[in-house]
Amino acid sequence: MQDTDPNQKNGSMPKPVLLVVLDGIRPDVLRAAIRDGDAPALGFLAERGEAVWDAVSVFPSITPAATAAIATGAPPAESGILGHAWYDREEGRVVVYGAMRETVISTGPVKVFHNNVWRMNRDDLSAPTLFEKLDERGIDGACVNFPVRRGPHEHPVRVRTVKRYKRFANRSELLGASVGGPKEYYMGDLFYSRDTGLHGRSGVGGLRRSVGINDAYAAGVGAMLLEEKAAPFTLVYFFKGDSIAHHKGLAAQRRHVAVLDQYVEDMFDAAGGPEKALEDYAVLALSDHGHTPLLPNRRRFVWLDRILGDGASAGPRVRFGPGLEIVVVPNGRSAFLYFEEGVEREKVVTNVLSRRGVDLAAWREDGWGVVRRLGRELRFRPMPPAGNGPRDTAGRAWELFGDPRALELEISDGIVRYGEYPDALERLWGCLRSPRCGDVVLSATPGYTFGEVSGNFHEQSDHGSLHASDSNVFVLASDVPAPRRLTDVVPTLLDHFGTAAAAATAVDTGT
Ligand SMILES: [Zn+2]
Repeated sequence: MQDTDPNQKNGSMPKPVLLVVLDGIRPDVLRAAIRDGDAPALGFLAERGEAVWDAVSVFPSITPAATAAIATGAPPAESGILGHAWYDREEGRVVVYGAMRETVISTGPVKVFHNNVWRMNRDDLSAPTLFEKLDERGIDGACVNFPVRRGPHEHPVRVRTVKRYKRFANRSELLGASVGGPKEYYMGDLFYSRDTGLHGRSGVGGLRRSVGINDAYAAGVGAMLLEEKAAPFTLVYFFKGDSIAHHKGLAAQRRHVAVLDQYVEDMFDAAGGPEKALEDYAVLALSDHGHTPLLPNRRRFVWLDRILGDGASAGPRVRFGPGLEIVVVPNGRSAFLYFEEGVEREKVVTNVLSRRGVDLAAWREDGWGVVRRLGRELRFRPMPPAGNGPRDTAGRAWELFGDPRALELEISDGIVRYGEYPDALERLWGCLRSPRCGDVVLSATPGYTFGEVSGNFHEQSDHGSLHASDSNVFVLASDVPAPRRLTDVVPTLLDHFGTAAAAATAVDTGT
């Protein structure tokens, strides 16, 4: 039976959960801010709860893939969300969920908007979300601005926004009338379950601004939901820290943490202050990926389509056809290569790996994952649970063939230890199994980036690679065990609600 008062204290119901996702905040950046006293609310959470500074994102370590992993518990190959962009062979086109403004403009704002808001959740997301799983157990969810939010409740597009939107979008047939989400769903002026009086502003300057999606709004709605104790599960998402790092670098991100911390404090205050908030709520705060500073000027660019030469092309509108046999889809510090029949993988891999900025190449072959770096090659695949191969820290046994130094693996006493590529086997396997990632996946050397599908490059910092600097994330957890992987968030929270729900049932039936 559903408990509509998340604050109820009958001893058997689980604490309601607040999940806060701070996009792209590096663990060392948050740690420095806490140490310097610039993040008292998050510092309080870290001190009272459990703080993990080397949890890991998925590969590619990029927002759509990582937020889908947080929301579904599935790696990219299972969630179906691999990156900012991928090539859909069936439709013969690049699907762009949108990243930087230039990408949105070159792809077409309505198209990106359609892909991001409708298509990603409705068509491409192939794993159930936590909102859906909790709903099956009679537990309601609330979501503010988080991009992956599919759920059983229909939310109409708010008319005022669509009218404004249509003014610059004349292909409005792409925009649906409603989306499925959790019981409470808020995304700027576009979707809101109830009128909050907290509309986003109507300023100019990009897609998000135009529909009032911003962090101050998220904090305001988050505070309202906590004050009302509106739902047993509340997910609030802040994205600005990521774009600040891209455009202004990590020192600017470090300064911005003070702003984010104020948002968290506002939400805690709405719940009765930090002490009371942690008393009443289980809280999980985490990032979806890290960030790697880029080399200055043009030195940071890796132009894959130029490296691959004639027959290869990148861009939001490319498709296979006469003269085009390799489609390149850059995703920041990772990239997907798609081959037409007859393209020799070995030739392409040898070529790209000889170029500065390309760290490693990986692909799937005859049921194995294959990775090559620094002339070393490793084949790997997971073993059945009873297998006797070396085990990673999560206990999974791997069958390995070739040179483990390709991934800086150290294997001793039947244990796999990772170096600069955290959780590399699991994360590569969680990408390569999907045909959506193409025929070869690339990861960039620190300092370099493959850029965006539009051909533009971020200025200061980027992410997406298998390397630790993009891949490590922080997790702060109070009254729930801290997940070590993004894909562990859903099982952790299902456990939290499940165990207690089972206990409540046992009490109800007098057993
Ligand atoms: Zn980013």
